[in-house]
Amino acid sequence: MGILNDKIDRSWIDKFDKPFIISGPCSAESEKQILDTAYELDKSYVQVFRAGIWKPRTKPGNFEGIGKNGLKWLNKVQKYTRLMVATEVANAEHVNLCKSHGIDILWIGARSTTSPFIVQEIADALEGDDQIIVLVKNPIHPDIELWLGAIERLYKKGIRKLGLIHRGFFTYKSIKYRNQPNWKLILDIKNYIPRIPILCDPSHICGNKDRIFDVAKKSLNYFSCDGLMIESHCDPNQAWSDSKQQITPKVLLKLLEEIFIKQKQSELKYKKNLYSLRILIDELDENLISILSERMNISKKLGILKNTSDVDILQPNRWKSVMEQSINLGKNLGLSEDFLERIFNLLHKESIKIQNKINE
Ligand code: PEP
Ligand code: MN
Repeated sequence: MGILNDKIDRSWIDKFDKPFIISGPCSAESEKQILDTAYELDKSYVQVFRAGIWKPRTKPGNFEGIGKNGLKWLNKVQKYTRLMVATEVANAEHVNLCKSHGIDILWIGARSTTSPFIVQEIADALEGDDQIIVLVKNPIHPDIELWLGAIERLYKKGIRKLGLIHRGFFTYKSIKYRNQPNWKLILDIKNYIPRIPILCDPSHICGNKDRIFDVAKKSLNYFSCDGLMIESHCDPNQAWSDSKQQITPKVLLKLLEEIFIKQKQSELKYKKNLYSLRILIDELDENLISILSERMNISKKLGILKNTSDVDILQPNRWKSVMEQSINLGKNLGLSEDFLERIFNLLHKESIKIQNKINE
């Protein structure tokens, strides 16, 4: 990864005001929707207008994008506003159409980054283009090698204006997010490749409008992201995709103003580090709570099974082996035996209490 660091050229993003802001609808729907949204965004700090033309949908039957006609609408945005335009590509045909329409920025979506075949096809189609900006969203699962591997595939084909977009990661269960952010991984990338431009996409992390501000602020203030990609729509409730997470350009403008004001109140470096570590702790604690709740739900099921099968709730041999296994595992991970014993005794007590309640 160090090798990649020497090659990363961030001069393209350093030419723009910071933070670098990309905004626009999840999907292009009509010329009117595109232009209405773009004219509003043109009045704000936004530098790039985004709209998905080809939409990767998890299930068939949903709106899969307006297709190449939408590229002409993006050309109108270029003509009538000061905004650059960006869209998602997922194969060579998309790339060729975007190139023939002079689209300024391409991004590779999370589902595509997951597949080296798709990334290679895109890289091959872009071969030798050292002017186009290509942003790579994180793969669905937190595999740093796969994410940076995509950057390497593009670099090898001569693409030089590169950046990453953190849009969160799939988890089977998340208390707060549609896609769990992984700030630790962002810090790791910053350590390995300090020069690589990283944007944050709070819209796809949150999946709703509520926490966009909070996530955007964290990414810029505590994890040194260079900018944001935020979905906005002139009429979010009527959006054909991701309607829950889209905000109006007006709301976006207010959010950006607040972020800029807060950014100016510069904080001491130690305080920034303190907050970023606290954010990591908070997120681990949330995961711990979710896992504890899942564990106790299984205890309940065990209680019901034992009750109907007339089996004793307390099974000393089983408990002894759970304790031994957990202490060994924890000790290998650097935890103290005393701490592990106390934690597991507490868990056991609670689990027995839950099972006894079922039998009352
Ligand atoms: C999008 O940006 O609209 C999109 C589909 O994003 P992701 O690839 O992050 O799901
Ligand atoms: Mn979307």
